[in-house]
Amino acid sequence: MKKTRRKKPILVTNDDGVQAPGLKVLAECLSAIGDVYIVAPDREQSAVGHSLTLRHPLRIAEVGPRMIAVEGTPTDCVLLAFYRILPEKPAAVFSGINFGHNLGDDITYSGTVSAALEATLLGIPAVAVSIGRTGEKVYYDVAAEFALKLGRKVLRTGLPKDTLLNVNLPNVPAGKIQGVAVTRQGRRSYDDVIVEKVDPRGRAYFWIGNGEPRWAEASGTDIHAIRAGKISVTPIHLDLTNHSAIEELKGWKIEK
Ligand code: MN
Repeated sequence: MKKTRRKKPILVTNDDGVQAPGLKVLAECLSAIGDVYIVAPDREQSAVGHSLTLRHPLRIAEVGPRMIAVEGTPTDCVLLAFYRILPEKPAAVFSGINFGHNLGDDITYSGTVSAALEATLLGIPAVAVSIGRTGEKVYYDVAAEFALKLGRKVLRTGLPKDTLLNVNLPNVPAGKIQGVAVTRQGRRSYDDVIVEKVDPRGRAYFWIGNGEPRWAEASGTDIHAIRAGKISVTPIHLDLTNHSAIEELKGWKIEK
């Protein structure tokens, strides 16, 4: 019998939930380069950001071979996988494929990106992958193939220190992708963020998240790359400090 070299574990998680189609396609594809473990929320957790579950227990359920559903957030999943579920430290963590882009300022809300952030905090190379919602078909296979290609490179060379990759793909067939751009985070604002309605008992209620995002047109950004039909790869740093503002604030001479 031919001896196969044992592969290192790769953790795959998401914020769309363990049953999401993007997660399955990504996990299948990445099995070419690692022993894939899925540890993902048991239901959709989009826009939970980097939240942790602290006020109730985390129940887990095995829903398939090396596939665990967690009653918690994407960040909970990464922590549980790292400290309890995986047999050893994973070679990489992949989060996605998220149904919908994670671009610009929106990444601070993103459970998909936050899972990668948590992995980075644990010292594991991490990649978040998201695809656009436009059109009838979602080309998860195209995104997963790209994630695999990137994964090979990440496993070989590692990532810059304290840095994760936020990857966004236009939702088009592989042949229609116009290239790959290494980008920076863009800026966006939403119109009509809050919608007010009235319930059957006559009381007002509110709904967040209507309206079309407006994007600042700036070259070199993630949104610019997506608009040009390219795959956007943004290196995200954990340091949120605005370094250029330090000198200005020192000039305030704030006293105790
Ligand atoms: Mn999501």
